[in-house]
Amino acid sequence: MFSFEVLPPLKGTGTEALFRTIDLLKEYNPSYINITTHRSEYVYTPQDNGTFLRSRIRRRPGTIAVASAIMQKYNIKVVPHVLCSGFSREDIEYMLLDLQFLGINDILVLRGDKAKDDSRFRPEPDGYSYATELIGQINKFNSGKFYDGTDIRIPGTPFSYGVACYPEKHEEAPNMESDLRVLKLKQDLGASYAVTQLFYDNKNYFSFVERARKAGITIPIIPGIKPLTKKSQLNVVPKTFHVDIPKELADEARKLNTDEEVAQLGIEWGLNQCKELLKEGAPSLHFYTVSAVNSINEIAKQLF
Ligand code: FAD
Repeated sequence: MFSFEVLPPLKGTGTEALFRTIDLLKEYNPSYINITTHRSEYVYTPQDNGTFLRSRIRRRPGTIAVASAIMQKYNIKVVPHVLCSGFSREDIEYMLLDLQFLGINDILVLRGDKAKDDSRFRPEPDGYSYATELIGQINKFNSGKFYDGTDIRIPGTPFSYGVACYPEKHEEAPNMESDLRVLKLKQDLGASYAVTQLFYDNKNYFSFVERARKAGITIPIIPGIKPLTKKSQLNVVPKTFHVDIPKELADEARKLNTDEEVAQLGIEWGLNQCKELLKEGAPSLHFYTVSAVNSINEIAKQLF
C-alpha cells in the first residue's frame, strides 16, 4: 500500500507537471493522493514616501480545486490538507463546506508552516495556534455545529482525518515526550492515523513508533519518504525539515560529481528504506513527490 503527496502548481505554471506525476504513479495503484495547502504570504513594496505597502499574495491555486480536479480525472481518493496557518475559523468553515459539497471526506489536519518572513508561527487573529485546536472545529462540524455554535441543518458525512508527526521531533517541541503528548492528544481527539515527516534513517522511525506505542498511541504511523535527488539537498533538507541525513548516505553523496549520480544513490537508499519498513510492518508508505517523482517511480517499479 502506498500514497503520495503533490503540491498545487505555482500560479502561472501549467498543470502538466502535476498530472505527469499522477500519470506516472497511478500505475502502481495508490490508495490516495494528498494535496498540500500553502498559506498566503505578505510582500512589502517600497513607496515613494519611504513607507512600505503590505499586500497579500497567494502563489498557488486552491487545494480544494486541485483535489477536486484530481478526483474527477483519476477517480482516486484525495486527501487535501487543512491548515491553521493563514486561515481564520470562517475560512476553515468555508473550506469544510466546499469539501463536503464535493464529497471529499478525508483530510490531513495540520498547523501549517509559518509565513516566510516571520521568525515564528503566528496564528491569524481569528485562527488557531495548534492543529489540535483546528481538530476541535472539525469535530464540532462533524457533530452538526458551525463554529459559532449554530446548528448545521443538514449535516453531511463526517470528516475523517490524519495528522502529522515527527520521528526526529518537531523543531519547536522542547523534547520528544512533549511532542508525543501532542500526538496522543491528536489521537484522543479523533485522528485515525499519523503521517511522519520525511526521514532517511529508519532507526529513527522504528524507535519513534516504539516510544509512541509506549505512550499509548495506537493509530497507524505511516512513514514519509522523499528520496535524495540533488547534492544541494545535503544542506537544504536538514535546514528545511529539521531531520538528519545519516553519515553513510551523506558521505556517499559527497563523493559523487553529478546530481544524476546523487539521484541514483537516492533511489537505492530510498528503496532499501522502503523494503525494510515494509518488512518490519510499516502500515504503508507515503511519498513526498516534489522534485523526486522520477526517483519514486523507479522505487515503486521495484516495490509494487
Ligand atoms: P502541531 O501539531 O500544532 O504542532 C506544532 C508544535 O506545537 C509542535 O512542536 C508541537 O509539539 C506543539 N504543540 C502542538 N499542540 C500543542 C499544544 N496544545 N500545546 C503546546 N504545544 C503544542 N505545512 C504546510 O504549510 N502545508 C502543508 O500542506 C503541509 N503538509 C504536511 C504534511 C505532513 C505529513 C507533515 C509531516 C508536515 C506538513 N506540513 C505542511 C508542515 C507542518 O505544517 C509543520 O511541520 C508545522 O510546523 C507543524 O504542523 P503540525 O500539524 O505538526 O502542528
